[in-house]
Amino acid sequence: MKIAIMGAGLSGLACALTLEKNGYHADIFEKRGMVGDRMIFAEGVSSIFHTPIDDYIKFLSETYDIHLKPTGNISKTYIHSKNETASLEGNLGFINMRGKHPESYEMQFAEQIHSPIHLHSKKIYEEISKEYTHVVVATGDPSDVQRIQPFDVAYKASFKGATVAGSFKRNEIHTWFNNDFAPKGMSYLLPHSDTEASFILVYPQYPENQVKDKEKLWQEGFSFAEASLQQKLNVTSDYSLKDFIIGKSAYPRIGNTFFVGNCLGCISPFIGFGEFTAILTGIYAAEDICGIESYEKQTKHVFQKYHDSLTLRRIIEHSSNEQLDRVVRSLQVEFLGKALTSPRFQLLKLLGKIAHPISRET
Ligand SMILES: Cc1cc2nc3c(=O)[nH]c(=O)nc-3n(C[C@H](O)[C@H](O)[C@H](O)COP(=O)(O)OP(=O)(O)OC[C@H]3O[C@@H](n4cnc5c(N)ncnc54)[C@H](O)[C@@H]3O)c2cc1C
Repeated sequence: MKIAIMGAGLSGLACALTLEKNGYHADIFEKRGMVGDRMIFAEGVSSIFHTPIDDYIKFLSETYDIHLKPTGNISKTYIHSKNETASLEGNLGFINMRGKHPESYEMQFAEQIHSPIHLHSKKIYEEISKEYTHVVVATGDPSDVQRIQPFDVAYKASFKGATVAGSFKRNEIHTWFNNDFAPKGMSYLLPHSDTEASFILVYPQYPENQVKDKEKLWQEGFSFAEASLQQKLNVTSDYSLKDFIIGKSAYPRIGNTFFVGNCLGCISPFIGFGEFTAILTGIYAAEDICGIESYEKQTKHVFQKYHDSLTLRRIIEHSSNEQLDRVVRSLQVEFLGKALTSPRFQLLKLLGKIAHPISRET
């Protein structure tokens, strides 16, 4: 077998590491000049969306012998709407760094891998598939998939983010659901330390949002966050992204080509998060190549989760600020908050059963 992996991000590197643990090596092709060659920012993985896995770091260690070191754990999540605030407490997940940060997950993976990583790669899928018996498409970019098979786009997202200096509790994160500045989207703050955090605004690029002034939304969201946190935040660096595709492939595998991470459909349409699922699909693809378990079988739950998450998005995005206030107010009831954070409570599954996904053109 001659195995190639396109993309040295989370799914590609998780695939390479799992292959190595099973005695195989891949050639990894990365288009950038180094692993993690992009802006530094924090990502969060919330256990609420991965039930019954309540601790994914422990799960990866014990199940796959993959050991990642997050920046911190999340013990409290504040949920803010326009006029209400609720908080959830418990073992709620982890925060980790991405990009050029020395402790980013991609750097941690790269340190453990011995397979060659060919940087500045310009090779396209068609060339690679001629040279290799197995190809793993892990470019994080569904437009690469669309050249090979149908990819259903749920929506494209617009991001604006910044690293901010301030005073933070490193285990406490904040989310804001407010259509005034995050139309059908959200903003959130993830601490890197006691003095630094990532503040990010993300919303879908629906036609009604395209006409809005992104900078104005950002300023409004930023001021709202400062008021919620009762402090001034100082921006030390910022970035802006658009056309970030969220959707899913028709097939997890075609012949010996495997689609993993964002190229499979790992981003949860509800909140736009997908790093843990990206890692899992990289592992699953490797396990199939090694003859351990079928990729189609292992990714069935990823597609189910995608549909449930899309359903949840469609429900939430039709909510006005008043309805969002009501939802947040209901979370203030102690037992509801506790139920939501219980590893037995499957939020996505429950809501997915209540309503069917509604498709929408972008
Ligand atoms: C601003 C932002 C914030 C986010 N926050 C969160 C969060 O808080 N929590 C969460 O769970 N998820 C979050 N996500 C989503 C998360 O980053 C992705 O789910 C995850 O990175 C997907 O992993 P991947 O392996 O598919 O792609 P990536 O990790 O992006 O890796 C893709 C790699 O492929 C390389 N590449 C691209 N094209 C080619 C090519 N043609 N040839 C070779 N290499 C190529 C890229 O340079 C990159 O190194 C966020 C995403 C963004 C953009």
